[in-house]
Amino acid sequence: VCRRLVGRTGVVTGAGSGIGLAATRRLASEGAHVVCADVDETRGKAAAEETGGIFVKADVTDPEQVEALFAAAYDTYGSVDVAFNNAGISPPDDDSILETGLEAWKRVQEVNLTSVYLCCKAAIPYMRRQGRGSIINTASFVARMGAATSQISYTASKGGVLAMSRELGVQFAREGIRVNALCPGPVNTPLLQELFAKDPERAARRLVHIPVGRFAEAEEIAAAVAFLASDDSSFVNATDFLVDGGISGA
Ligand code: NAD
Repeated sequence: VCRRLVGRTGVVTGAGSGIGLAATRRLASEGAHVVCADVDETRGKAAAEETGGIFVKADVTDPEQVEALFAAAYDTYGSVDVAFNNAGISPPDDDSILETGLEAWKRVQEVNLTSVYLCCKAAIPYMRRQGRGSIINTASFVARMGAATSQISYTASKGGVLAMSRELGVQFAREGIRVNALCPGPVNTPLLQELFAKDPERAARRLVHIPVGRFAEAEEIAAAVAFLASDDSSFVNATDFLVDGGISGA
């Protein structure tokens, strides 16, 4: 493994499961101090213990808890170099526009999109002072294609993450802050397993459209996170960084 992140501090939201957990492990293995944030205390703590980092219980929809999260990272390790704003929820059961209710819609925007706004707002002042930082916001391939998924609130929230990341990447580039939207294809995580358990046919339909013929493993997404976090990606900014096995290009 390369050690591209020695001495850097990375905040990961949704660190207790799936992509966040794999990314936490990868960032730590590359030498970073990791700050593991999750609403799920048991899983978040386990991630921190395993990777030698700290756990901060934070609901990413709560502005004060998000402020406290980035403050804890800075107070503990003296910098905030990487923010992997990744926590998110899957779509409501029937997320077609004719079925999904206003409350369900709002909840998805809050957890998937407003959370990213809050985390960027909290991270950028630290990064500005340092003149350096990499922000990686988890969007999704669904924001890049009409996937006939009937996931209107989810897809719209992820489209917002893409646009916000681009906007911020352009705005803060001269200050040494890069902002990229990470767009995973379907990844074998609890979130996806839950979705497919409710609708097995959907899994089969989805698989047909992935050119590589399988779902991603979380570690494959984590490898991209480590790249975007490190100086190896110093000229990669304001992108929709696709790690999707070709699904959006097919
Ligand atoms: P997951 O359900 O395995 O993990 C998500 C983690 O986020 C959980 O530990 C959960 O407790 C935490 N979380 C949820 N709401 C939170 C909140 N309000 N505050 C703090 N933490 C919260 O999911 P995953 O598959 O690893 O997904 C991670 C991200 O990747 C999400 O943004 C998801 O939309 C996105 N994504 C997933 C896939 C996929 O196929 N799995 C594909 C594209 C994008």
